[in-house]
Amino acid sequence: MSDLRVRFAPSPTGYLHIGGARTALFNYLLARKEKGTFILRIEDTDVARSTQESTDAILQAMDWLGLSYDEGPFYQSERFDLYKQKVAQLLAEGKAYRCYCTAEELEVKREAAMKAGGKPKYDGTCRNRSDQPEGTPFVVRFKAPHEGETTFADRIKGPITFQNAELDDLIIQRTDGTPTYNFVVVVDDAEMGLTIVVRGDDHINNTPRQILMYQALGYPVPEFAHVPMILGSDKSRLSKRHGATSVMVYREMGYLPEAMVNYLVRLGWSFGDEEIFSMDDLIEKFRLENVGKAAGVFNPEKLLWLNSHYIKTGDPARLGELLVEYLEKIGVSVAGGPDVPSVVKTLQERAKTMVEMAEGAAFYYKKELEFDEKAVAKFLTADRKPVIEAVIEQLEKSESFDHDGIEKAFGAVMAQTGLKLGKIGPVVRVALVGGTVSPSIFEVLEVLGQEKSLRRLQAALNMLN
Ligand code: GLU
Repeated sequence: MSDLRVRFAPSPTGYLHIGGARTALFNYLLARKEKGTFILRIEDTDVARSTQESTDAILQAMDWLGLSYDEGPFYQSERFDLYKQKVAQLLAEGKAYRCYCTAEELEVKREAAMKAGGKPKYDGTCRNRSDQPEGTPFVVRFKAPHEGETTFADRIKGPITFQNAELDDLIIQRTDGTPTYNFVVVVDDAEMGLTIVVRGDDHINNTPRQILMYQALGYPVPEFAHVPMILGSDKSRLSKRHGATSVMVYREMGYLPEAMVNYLVRLGWSFGDEEIFSMDDLIEKFRLENVGKAAGVFNPEKLLWLNSHYIKTGDPARLGELLVEYLEKIGVSVAGGPDVPSVVKTLQERAKTMVEMAEGAAFYYKKELEFDEKAVAKFLTADRKPVIEAVIEQLEKSESFDHDGIEKAFGAVMAQTGLKLGKIGPVVRVALVGGTVSPSIFEVLEVLGQEKSLRRLQAALNMLN
């Protein structure tokens, strides 16, 4: 174990999206690579917007991606006592103050500041106020220094400096007594012993504010690494317009978690010109220094390409287990049907997603074949009866129903009918599959097995009669 401690700190206000998943992945990889600790913290202080459903969705997505954590999940909603105590500490030390300005007053001040061309900053009315009007609602504000500057050495972006004069006296506790994000994130990151905070660069502006609070609370300041945003193909911030942004929707669409992980990591991180990385490769190769400074551009075609790669090279037994689930979703049960891993092997080369694989595999398991009318009209016409009869005759005779045995049987059918395989194949395919698209006929026959194959051919023959 090293003393590196990192965290993923999602707000449970929706599903786990692509950007959040990548942040989680980078933290996970860093922890595993450095043999440190990966913490999961659910930032649910915004009670109105946080839901259990979102929390469950986030946990489920992390599990799907294989991002296991060592500590947590911690819930900020269970830590309010701690935050209260820290607010009290700052108040007692004169590092925070009660602000009694009403929303209306603040709005007037904000407008005046904007008119005067300044930043809409709190004007500090209550900063040095010593009375405590009884029964008047108040927020607690952090007393930020007005002079000097705050600098940090971002591990991805390099040194970043803010002038303290630009920073506001942030509200750390609302009128209802609940603490705010910038405050609790500091208390938690410090109390949980974070050594480096890796998060999206939409938080860069928060960092100097947070550093000042670490200092005020007497905590050591961790390191920071801000990961660039993910953009859509038109270079605007990734949104639903660019395709699904929820990680779990990709699972529904038939993507494998290893493809998703491989895809996510390359959105902003590189290792030479390599493209294919297993989780183990990543744990070995990942370095924050190789995270780019520029935003990553989301490219669904590349994700699809990776998915088809992992389907092609995947273990048929494992893909088989997944296939069963995807088949169930389209109402197909594998019970009593051909061996699932054998079915997978016939489809791995062509299916780009597990949904496609399930659609392609359904014919193996359907009790009643659905026939494509056009295919039937073209290939299952009355004049093909002798072809089907010959195929049935030869396949019945076949002693071994493997590739070689089936090939031999078809050799005999060709001799018997005087037709080329190109004429026989499509007829047999429609009889076995119901349509014109399937793995090779020999594969289909072998996987279906002698009994089922013959039954389907006989049914086609009956249809012609
Ligand atoms: N809860 C914050 C968010 O989801 C992240 C906080 C952080 O990483 O500091 O944006």
